[in-house]
Amino acid sequence: MAIATVNPTTGLIEQSFEPHSGEDIERKLTQAAGAASAQRVSAFATRAAWMVRSAEILESEADAVAAILTTEMGKTLKSARAEVLKCAKNMRFYAEHAEAFLADEPLSDPSSVGASLAYARYEPLGIVLAVMPWNYPLWQVIRFAAPALMAGNVGLLKHASNVPQSALYLDTLFTRGGFPTGAFSTLLIESGAVAAVIQDSRVKAVTLTGSEPAGRSVAQTAGHSIKKAVLELGGSDPFIVMPSADIRAAAAMAATSRTGNSGQSCIAAKRFIVHTDVFDDFAGAFVEQMRALRVGDPLLDSTDVGPLATQAGRAELAELVDDALAHGATALIGGSTPDGPGWFYPPTVLTGITGSMRLHQEEAFGPVASLYRVASVDEAIEVANGTRFGLSSAVWSTNEAEQDAFSRQLDAGAVFINGMTVSYPELPFGGIKDSGYGRELAAAGIREFCNLKTIWKA
Ligand code: NAP
Repeated sequence: MAIATVNPTTGLIEQSFEPHSGEDIERKLTQAAGAASAQRVSAFATRAAWMVRSAEILESEADAVAAILTTEMGKTLKSARAEVLKCAKNMRFYAEHAEAFLADEPLSDPSSVGASLAYARYEPLGIVLAVMPWNYPLWQVIRFAAPALMAGNVGLLKHASNVPQSALYLDTLFTRGGFPTGAFSTLLIESGAVAAVIQDSRVKAVTLTGSEPAGRSVAQTAGHSIKKAVLELGGSDPFIVMPSADIRAAAAMAATSRTGNSGQSCIAAKRFIVHTDVFDDFAGAFVEQMRALRVGDPLLDSTDVGPLATQAGRAELAELVDDALAHGATALIGGSTPDGPGWFYPPTVLTGITGSMRLHQEEAFGPVASLYRVASVDEAIEVANGTRFGLSSAVWSTNEAEQDAFSRQLDAGAVFINGMTVSYPELPFGGIKDSGYGRELAAAGIREFCNLKTIWKA
């Protein structure tokens, strides 16, 4: 894919960029290696001051950065601004907590292992390559970068080819905050150049957030090179509604979860699994909520849903919907691609989904909801677990026994009860099955790219 900003609202190319040359990449790697040595011996307090300064810079530039995000991938300006501020919050979170998360772990009874002293210590790995997607051009990167830099690591970013201006903003953010040159920088490269970077002996680990095929490719290279990898891949999260739920509240949140970021979120609820006793009520209220959403220019404050980020992404989504309709699904709302400029797609709700439809097994990366009718907790769990994904899940029920059953039996990295999945700096985030492995955020996230070194003293 060419590296360029193509405005999804107009379909026009705004700016193209030449990929970095081999020499550029070598220079960036050399700088990163130098920064890794400096980072390794720097104090937590020093890195925390740099991180807080970086967060302040980001906050002070929030409006300009938000405009870049909206221009490059079409999210509403208000949500872009919220994304920027969430990033700053995450940076402050790790500035404050990194040292405690990575504190030494002494063995309380070292004599049990024949030692006078025994403990485990978290040390940085060095350069970590981050291969990142366009859907949250800032947040996906910062949720890796803030803990990585606070742990004393170095980040090299290979961002999605359609968000180069976001990537270039991030290229300098952390050095402007005080981190050493090379501590975090951007490689403007296409996906074909990623394997060679992973294989470079100076690069110690890789994290990828993106699609399943990209994950498989990166994990294969990392595995071959015996390097640590974290994969945050796609999802087709269930949103289960049981009879005891507040149906109107569930329907409102269902619409928010399905259409936020124009439906292009890995943790968006995508499959709505509803008990038959409340199916009609829920479906009616959900469609009403979806109909009320204003689709249009993402720069306008009144807009709820902007265009999809890419022409190809819209075509793929439309294919999934067309396939479902051709195999007998019914659209309660939406379901067809509008004419006109920009890559818009309407909020869509489909019922009558069956196993023969691609939508049943694939991720719908846009504002398309699949409705399923079930008759029991067990059937809801069976449908929810019936995909190869396992990112997150949401359950609406006020019955504690049901809440317990779902929280234990859903095959997912998270279960949100009477709410929607959101990523918080304070909570671990990640999936199982084909949604990937490893965790980001919280203590688990910062420990992923550390060497947990055991120290034993006679
Ligand atoms: P994508 O096409 O997989 O791209 C993600 C990144 O991987 C981009 O930087 C891309 O570069 C690169 N890439 C693609 N193929 C590659 C390969 N074979 N080798 C190395 N790098 C490769 O995904 P996307 O369309 O940007 O993002 C949407 C997907 O990301 C969805 O499936 C979504 O669910 C998932 N996602 C997951 C999470 C999570 O936390 N689990 C969060 C957000 C998004 P180019 O742009 O140059 O191709």
